[in-house]
Amino acid sequence: MALIVQKYGGTSVGTVEKIENVADKLIAAREAGHDVVVVVSAMSGETNRLIDLAQQVSDHPHPREYDVLVSTGEQVTIALLSMTLNKKGYPAVSYTGAQVHILTDSAHTKARILDIDESNMREDLEAGRIVVVAGFQGRDEHGNITTLGRGGSDTTAVALAAALKADECHIYTDVDGVYTTDPRVVPTARRLDQITFEEMLEMSSLGSKVLQIRAVEFAGKYNVRLRVLSSFEEGPGTLITFEEDNMENPVISGIAFNRDEAKLTVLGVPDEPGVAHRILGPIGEANIEVDMIIQNVAADATTDFTFTVHRNDYDKALAVLKKTAGELGAREVNGDDGIVKISLVGVGMRSHAGIASTMFETLAKEGINIRMISTSEIKVSVVVDEKYLELGVRALHDAFNLEQAPAA
Ligand code: ADP
Ligand code: ASP
Ligand code: MG
Repeated sequence: MALIVQKYGGTSVGTVEKIENVADKLIAAREAGHDVVVVVSAMSGETNRLIDLAQQVSDHPHPREYDVLVSTGEQVTIALLSMTLNKKGYPAVSYTGAQVHILTDSAHTKARILDIDESNMREDLEAGRIVVVAGFQGRDEHGNITTLGRGGSDTTAVALAAALKADECHIYTDVDGVYTTDPRVVPTARRLDQITFEEMLEMSSLGSKVLQIRAVEFAGKYNVRLRVLSSFEEGPGTLITFEEDNMENPVISGIAFNRDEAKLTVLGVPDEPGVAHRILGPIGEANIEVDMIIQNVAADATTDFTFTVHRNDYDKALAVLKKTAGELGAREVNGDDGIVKISLVGVGMRSHAGIASTMFETLAKEGINIRMISTSEIKVSVVVDEKYLELGVRALHDAFNLEQAPAA
């Protein structure tokens, strides 16, 4: 007998029929003798609908109230799922994040989990109940409702698994595992039997939304046994592994991409100490996260400086940058919110040269202009125009033969 935390995403609970399907899977796990805690998302489309309502009311809804609103989607699902289980004769009890004491910091809309008190859940499990918890939410030390950022139900599930020292954490979704890239963009993408924790961390941080990055971070920190599976069909899914050495690692494991990018450039800034700080300081103070940064080698006494931000922050960042540019006496500010980032990820890259050059050659053959490049030990990222996203990802998937499993 094991303790299993399962999580079902929005499409898996999108209708009452699908909730019924989830209930049957939970009952099967109970019948197999396991204790089960289940985390659910809002029904598909619901969180978007709530965000849209907030935006109809205000361009800048108060973050506290925004969280009160968007956290309601999950509350609907937990009640419906518990009712369904009860109807089928299985005792179940639903809890919001606050009710199971998921304590977070106060960073509304992107709060971090600090602590979980699992005693209530333990009592329920001992009494034979299925515990149904709302994903994506918690409460801060003052009792305010907080949310964990888009995709945050993944993180709730992994955090609960860590707190309960669960034997396994299963993330059920609308694809049957983690693929070499988003199977909706590349039909020949291949499901991976396993992926290392380190690679999954990169894939998530570079835009693969199949797992929220914080969920992967939690899994790594607390050694949670994490598997991604389909809600709709049987199969082994993908295991996130910690050991790298028991297999010959492929050079490239996957391709991640992110459509939510925008870039800003300030041209002709004085080339002197402190300039990078003077440009990026005010951006940070405006609570805008910066991703890639490039500063050109100075040709005369001036240089150009480019960085990327989340597309939602583009207008705000541009306004801040224009102000700074004026103060610095820069020549010009420009920007582009029609760009995307494509990244190759693989721990095998460490021991292989020439990955970046194959990547650049492949994109060149397709006539795709690379606007920015950044590399680290296990990834290479390029920024290209949005219209080249699909073409670029497919060409790279082909060039690196990702549709084929590497020979064992
Ligand atoms: P859920 O609602 O279950 O949380 P998400 O939509 O958040 O589901 O995540 C699943 C989706 O992630 C898939 O439908 C797929 O389009 C996308 N995705 C992106 N990259 C990958 C990848 N490498 N492997 C599998 N799915 C991916
Ligand atoms: N419902 C939230 C969202 O759509 C959280 C989640 O589904 O993980 O982002
Ligand atoms: Mg998700």
